[in-house]
Amino acid sequence: MRVLVTGGAGFIGSAVCRQLVLEHQADVMNIDKLTYASNLRSLDPVAGHPGYSFQRLDICDRQGLDRVFARYQPDAVIHLAAESHVDRSIMRPSEFITTNVVGTYTLLEAAREYFSGLKGDRRADFRLVHVSTDEVYGSLGETGLFVEETPYRPSSPYSASKAASDHLAHAWYATYGLPVIVSNCSNNYGPYQFPEKLIPLMILNAIEERPLPVYGTGANVRDWLYVGDHAEGLICLLAHGKPGESYNFGGSSERSNLDVVSRISEIYDDIASPPVPTRSLITFVADRPGHDLRYAIDASKALRELGWKPRKTFEEGLRATVEWYVDNGSWWAPLRSGIYDGKRLGLLSV
Ligand code: NAD
Repeated sequence: MRVLVTGGAGFIGSAVCRQLVLEHQADVMNIDKLTYASNLRSLDPVAGHPGYSFQRLDICDRQGLDRVFARYQPDAVIHLAAESHVDRSIMRPSEFITTNVVGTYTLLEAAREYFSGLKGDRRADFRLVHVSTDEVYGSLGETGLFVEETPYRPSSPYSASKAASDHLAHAWYATYGLPVIVSNCSNNYGPYQFPEKLIPLMILNAIEERPLPVYGTGANVRDWLYVGDHAEGLICLLAHGKPGESYNFGGSSERSNLDVVSRISEIYDDIASPPVPTRSLITFVADRPGHDLRYAIDASKALRELGWKPRKTFEEGLRATVEWYVDNGSWWAPLRSGIYDGKRLGLLSV
């Protein structure tokens, strides 16, 4: 199988590329603009593999996309390229609209043109998986779960841009018959995540004995899924997902942010025995504007219809993640000293 992956130099996209090539013996073409959030070192395990190739490309570049489709002739597309950090979307929404909305539209159009030239089994089997988030559903109260039918009510510029792209994806199926499948997944964590997101930021601050900044009271709840389990779910969608439908993915691992940071502190103390208990570094800082209270996923459709199930518990995945960052300073140290030093993002200036 030949899979065109967009955003494969990012956190989840690189996991998808590694798993497709190394565990599923698929052939992968990765296209990525290489923004600040990308890291080609995350692809070291597949670099040089005959089944893997890379091209630097912006998904807003229609002619570039047309050339890649014509030359590579993919059997499927997994679309992950996006601006992905809520705090940055609060400060600079325009890049989110450009890449997430216009870029997705451009990719759908290029895929539609390519699909129109496919015949027989190649046409019947072609799939485009559009990777989205549970944040499109907005915030839950203390109880309840997001199901695929939950109405969209995005709160941040990021989630609004993802919601718009999901609607485009569904419309390209309904109107043009492009076999698009949409995935809505909860928060991912694991190795190779850019250290602006909660879990890697806290681990690196713990390693460097810097304050661990928890937004508000730390009561906001997320439903965590290990990145490798998400990547496996997306790969399952290629074979078993129904075109035109949405699938929720989650790990049934609801934790408050304060619980997550406390657990990271305990694991790090256990691994590294630092001079002061890491928990003492926790500091409460101003909350994120529009911060959704709680996300939690009902993943029963994916469990039932795809035969997918998460392999790692949150406890196993979190320990593996802390250990990975402790052991892989050569991956993250250049990011901390260069692109992003961990400073607070996403506060409104007025
Ligand atoms: P990421 O920020 O780590 O990676 C995004 C990648 O997309 C980067 O390599 C970047 O260079 C690339 N990119 C950005 N703009 C591009 C453009 N215009 N053209 C080509 N490439 C471009 O993001 P991630 O965390 O890996 O998320 C991947 C996808 O999964 C996103 O669509 C995101 O919305 C979705 N998602 C993420 C999570 C999560 O917890 N991280 C959860 C659910 C869904």
